Amino acid sequence: MPADFAAEPLILDVKHNSLDDGPGIRSTVFFKGCPLDCAWCHNPESKSPEAELAVDPAACVNCGACAAACPHGAIRPGAVDRDRCRRDFRCAAVCPTEALRRLGRYRPPAEILAELKRYLPFFRNSGGGLTLSGGEPTLYPDYAAKLLRGAKQLGIRTLLETGGLFDFTRFQENLLPWLDAIYFDLKLMDDGQHREFCGAPNGRILDNFRRLAVVARTGFFRLLPRVPLVPGLTDTDENLAAIARFLDDCGVRRVDLLPYNPTWTRKAVLIDRPTRLAIERWQTPDELERCRRAFAGFAIER
Ligand code: SF4
Ligand code: SF4
Repeated sequence: MPADFAAEPLILDVKHNSLDDGPGIRSTVFFKGCPLDCAWCHNPESKSPEAELAVDPAACVNCGACAAACPHGAIRPGAVDRDRCRRDFRCAAVCPTEALRRLGRYRPPAEILAELKRYLPFFRNSGGGLTLSGGEPTLYPDYAAKLLRGAKQLGIRTLLETGGLFDFTRFQENLLPWLDAIYFDLKLMDDGQHREFCGAPNGRILDNFRRLAVVARTGFFRLLPRVPLVPGLTDTDENLAAIARFLDDCGVRRVDLLPYNPTWTRKAVLIDRPTRLAIERWQTPDELERCRRAFAGFAIER
C-alpha cells in the first residue's frame, strides 16, 4: 500500500442514519482497502485502497458530457475503456446522473467529526453511535484512532467491524482504548480454504480473536463474532461446527450469523472487478435454521 494511503486513507462513504451496522441509529464510515480478498465480499468496491471509477450504463442518458470532458479519449458509447482511463475522474465530475462515479476520497477526521455532531441527539436517544467499517479500518490505525478518540470526546459510543487481520499490539495500543464494541468476522476455519477464498491464512485472525476474547472479559468492550454465511462454503455443517468449537474454547457464548446477500455481484460489475464466485441466490429459511442449529449443542446464542 502506498505510504500516503497509510496516513490519508480513502473513504468510500460516510453513511448517516444507518440501522445496519450496530445498535441504534449510527453513522458508518466505510474505509477503502482490505488485506483480505474474500471471493464473496459484499463491498467489492472497498477492497482496493485506491480511488476507482464506477460505471453504471443503466443510469446513462447519453448526454455526451463525459466524452467531452475526458482528455484521454477513454469514453466509448455506453462504456469506459479502462486501459486508456487515467482515473482523473473528470467524467464523473460532469455526469448528471451518477452513471459515472468516483469511489474513494480522503476525508480529514475533523471534517467527519464535525458532521457527527449533528447526529448527537439521535445517537443518544437510540443507543447508537459511530461504526468504522470497510474495507478494513485497522489498516489505518493512526487515522482510525483520531476518529475514535474524537468520537469518544464527543460522548459518542464506538464500534469497529473487522476481518481480524491486524497487528495485535498496535491494535491494543491505538484502537482498543477507544472502542465500546468489536464485531469480528470469522469465515473459514480450514486454513487451506481460507487461503483460497479469502486470500490469506487464518492463523493470525484466530489468534487475534482468542486474545481479544480474553481481554473482553474485563467488560470494557463487547466482542461479537459474526459469520458471513456463504452457501456451500462458510455455511457447511463442518465449518460451522468448527467455529462453534472455537468459540466454545474461547468462552464466547454469542454469535451473529449474517445471511448471504447475493447483490454484491452487481456492485462488482460496476467497477469491472472479476467475480470468482457466482452464487446468485438467497438462502432459504430451512438453510438458515440448519446454520443456527450448528451452535445449539454448544449453548452459543445466535
Ligand atoms: S476518469 Fe478521466 S481518463 Fe478516465 S474516463 Fe473519466 S475523464 Fe477519462
Ligand atoms: S455524462 Fe453520464 S449520463 Fe452523460 S453520457 Fe456520460 S455517463 Fe451518460
